[in-house]
Amino acid sequence: MRNIYPNIIKFNSNNLIKIIKILKKDGIIGLPTETVYGLGGNAYSSSAIKKIYKVKKRIKNNPLIIHYYSFNDAKKDVILDRNFYKIYKKFSPGPITYIVKKKRNSKINSLACSNLKTVGIRFPKNIIIRKLLKKINFPLAMPSANKSSSVSSVKAEDVFEEFQNKVKVVDGGISKIGIESTVLNLVGSICILRPGKITPKQIESILKIKIKIPSRQNTIRSPGSLKKHYSPGIPIYINKKRCPKKHAFLTFGKKYPVTRNCFNLSKKSNLNEAAKNLYKFFRSIKNKGYKKIYVAKIPNEGIGIALNDRLKRASS
Ligand code: AMP
Ligand code: MG
Repeated sequence: MRNIYPNIIKFNSNNLIKIIKILKKDGIIGLPTETVYGLGGNAYSSSAIKKIYKVKKRIKNNPLIIHYYSFNDAKKDVILDRNFYKIYKKFSPGPITYIVKKKRNSKINSLACSNLKTVGIRFPKNIIIRKLLKKINFPLAMPSANKSSSVSSVKAEDVFEEFQNKVKVVDGGISKIGIESTVLNLVGSICILRPGKITPKQIESILKIKIKIPSRQNTIRSPGSLKKHYSPGIPIYINKKRCPKKHAFLTFGKKYPVTRNCFNLSKKSNLNEAAKNLYKFFRSIKNKGYKKIYVAKIPNEGIGIALNDRLKRASS
């Protein structure tokens, strides 16, 4: 049978060499992480960074997250304080991004940070990306592998749907978590700029201070918090009790009907399962030709805070 996804490649030792070659030549490539798929390139190379912004059609004032193998690699480029180490010890590698100060002699490309004095850094846990990061001597600038303002990719085929033959993608199966990392600001007043799997409560329990999620963030602080984001490109209506048959109904829990237009994020009312299904359902609903999505109420706790954040933005 003809391979309909010639740009999706398996992760093996031969391909690892090829991937490293692409990255060393300032190429960019789709890579799996435990949150969503990323579009990675050498964070020290202006040519690689330009390609990322171009392929994603991303506005230049939306900075990229820089991915390292460990804090030892990161500390060459950024200033790490006590709060950072406390949280790092508990949650990294994992689904959390830290906004920290950039060092004056940092090698990170300034366009990747939108010329800010701060940088978002993450230490992903996915085994493929870790094996790769361990082998290269530069960090990866890696935004989510989707066109700007569209839905993130949770499998290699999604990345292909976004970019077709423009980039290769490493197949790492379905993303374990399914929504983007928590973005924690550690510069100035500590707060969460983007909710994710790691919750404010979890951070509070370590830092022993109240952690807020500011509702009105200015666009420079965290441009990804722009209201319109994470959208499947069709209208979304949230907190709905019922839905007309011709529209898609995204539900949660067992009290909802099992009709053709119903897409249950988690029959067991499991928020982690719901997070894993959210973008997958967005994509399939759109591909099935529905013109509108109604969404049932989702508990605003744990990863549900992040789910509601994405739904709110997608619906705006
Ligand atoms: P994405 O690359 O699509 O996962 O989005 C990355 C998110 O991290 C966006 O919301 C960015 O605005 C945010 N981010 C990255 N770097 C910084 C930074 N230096 N300061 C504030 N937010 C940042
Ligand atoms: Mg994104």
